[in-house]
Amino acid sequence: MILIMGRVAIIGAGVSGLTCGVVFAERGYRTALFAKETGQQTTSSAAAAIWFPYDAEPAKRVIPWALNTYKTLFELSNNSRTGVSIIELRQFSRAREIEVPGWAIPLGASVISNGIGHSLEFTSGYAIKVPLTDTTIYLDYLAARFVKANGAINTNVCFEKLEDADRKFDLVINCAGIGARDLVQDPDLEPHRGQVAIVSRIENLPCAIVCDDAPLMYAIPRGNDCVFGGTNDLSSDLTADPATTDRIVTECSRVLGMERPKVLAERVGLRPFRRSGVRLERDQLRDGRTVVHNYGHGGSGFTLSWGCAREVAGLVG
Ligand SMILES: Cc1cc2nc3c(=O)[nH]c(=O)nc-3n(C[C@H](O)[C@H](O)[C@H](O)COP(=O)(O)OP(=O)(O)OC[C@H]3O[C@@H](n4cnc5c(N)ncnc54)[C@H](O)[C@@H]3O)c2cc1C
Repeated sequence: MILIMGRVAIIGAGVSGLTCGVVFAERGYRTALFAKETGQQTTSSAAAAIWFPYDAEPAKRVIPWALNTYKTLFELSNNSRTGVSIIELRQFSRAREIEVPGWAIPLGASVISNGIGHSLEFTSGYAIKVPLTDTTIYLDYLAARFVKANGAINTNVCFEKLEDADRKFDLVINCAGIGARDLVQDPDLEPHRGQVAIVSRIENLPCAIVCDDAPLMYAIPRGNDCVFGGTNDLSSDLTADPATTDRIVTECSRVLGMERPKVLAERVGLRPFRRSGVRLERDQLRDGRTVVHNYGHGGSGFTLSWGCAREVAGLVG
């Protein structure tokens, strides 16, 4: 089906739904978003949210989506009102010789050889310049850009099934994140719970520090604060655990060699990890309408957002 300027309903208003919304509305489709929560209440708002392919499969689809998104976020960083900036990411390992991934080399990644940076415990690392999206600004920016392109946002709407979308919509796009588990009964989706501590701004931290080896540790400085992480457990518990926050802040402060900063907030989100890989495909609803699924981005929803949204549009336009 090629959709000629039809009506589009997008379920979900996290980063995936909002980015799809912008792409469709700016291409002239009459587009409406429907969601239980929007922007700042979604999983997306709990993200760090740095560009980096992490906890999403399969690599052969994820990397091209990520590189496509990289270009767009790089362009958006020229406008400070988007909340996107460029930061050096220092990716470390505690125990092994870290390899610079093939996709990172054309982006200018280089091995960190002169001292291993912030902590003696790191054995190797590499540095790469990447986009960082400040979710407190970027999600609102996407929503405003969508509305400017005549998109409509409907919040506090909970669908039991995708067919609940009004029949006036010719196309339905499913960007429900972890909510797709119930919405389309997808048992392949796993909640990879992440907890972070938002701490006060750290003056002398010019780059983001990440170590994926256990214990997972990251410090991501933003304009007004800094995100300390993290956790990645199989759990749907959305309550912040104070002991976990304490552990995160202790570990990050120790690695950075600094006093414990003030904790401004704790955030928990469920990374929508899908065991069989991100679901981006066209399908048919029981009532015959076309649906495009776009969920299961795991720990990479921001990193894949523009690449995926454009592929969704390419499947129907
Ligand atoms: C702690 C943490 C750190 C992270 N760091 C990064 C990072 O550095 N970089 C990165 O790229 N990614 C990161 N992620 C991952 C990223 O946050 C997710 O991949 C991304 O938010 C998924 O976005 P989404 O729009 O698909 O889903 P969500 O943000 O979960 O949005 C889903 C939307 O669907 C709506 N919805 C669901 N079910 C229904 C229903 N039945 N009816 C109506 N509406 C419904 C919800 O209300 C919501 O609006 C991180 C995640 C966490 C938790």
